[in-house]
Amino acid sequence: MPRSDALRFEPLLDLPADHEPDALWFAFVGEEVVLSEHGRVPTAAELGVEPTRTVPLGRLDGRLCVAVELPTTPTGLAAYGLRQLWGMLDEAQWTVAGRARQMLAWDADHRHCGRCGAATFVATGERSRTCSACAFASYPRLAPAIIVLVERADGAALLCHGVRFPRVSYSCLAGFVEPGESLEEAVHREVYEEAGITIADVRYVASQPWPFPGSLMVGFEARHADGELRLDPTEIVDGGWFHRHDLPPLPPYPSIARSLVDRWIARGATS
Ligand SMILES: [Zn+2]
Repeated sequence: MPRSDALRFEPLLDLPADHEPDALWFAFVGEEVVLSEHGRVPTAAELGVEPTRTVPLGRLDGRLCVAVELPTTPTGLAAYGLRQLWGMLDEAQWTVAGRARQMLAWDADHRHCGRCGAATFVATGERSRTCSACAFASYPRLAPAIIVLVERADGAALLCHGVRFPRVSYSCLAGFVEPGESLEEAVHREVYEEAGITIADVRYVASQPWPFPGSLMVGFEARHADGELRLDPTEIVDGGWFHRHDLPPLPPYPSIARSLVDRWIARGATS
């Protein structure tokens, strides 16, 4: 994301005192986002119902963005899974919708103190919920995960179909970073654990917020160094080295997995 794009969103902790009729309401019913009848992120007037929970998010291009939880989908409107909305919303708004989902989940999951069980309240001046009894503060947490495209000397890429994939697609290896581990260490460990090979030249490519539910995917490329594939059957259904002229079903957009695969394909076109 270019720096100018990154600066389009300004986080906000408190709702402005005055009502802003053009504010965007990122409204969730459970895991689904409600859109206006025009298929856009609605305003309060377009939704027409009182939310059961409201979390201020920030301003996108100056326009107020609020995360709200609704008891039911308003009559005449439709709700969609976040993944479905890719391509229906512009990318900046889709990213804010992911932010909204994580903030609502965090707010709902921290109504009570994880240390003593007393009720919490929204703190002022920072994004946290503070315990009314022991003052323990809970902040939104991210779980970083790494994803890596490994390329062999002959140009083939390691792509695998994981046991937890919702559909048949072959993707890069990925896994959560463990406490005490660097991102690079996690990359080496995951590849060795899941595929039995060692890698070299681990290079950072890009990262992507991944609100399913609260992750940050950090994307890498690496070169196969040594070893024959020994795929872990508890993690991988099927996989192997694929060439660009013989591709399996690829991961869907929007995903950093797909952008890593696309980069690899594009490298073949220029070499
Ligand atoms: Zn407490």
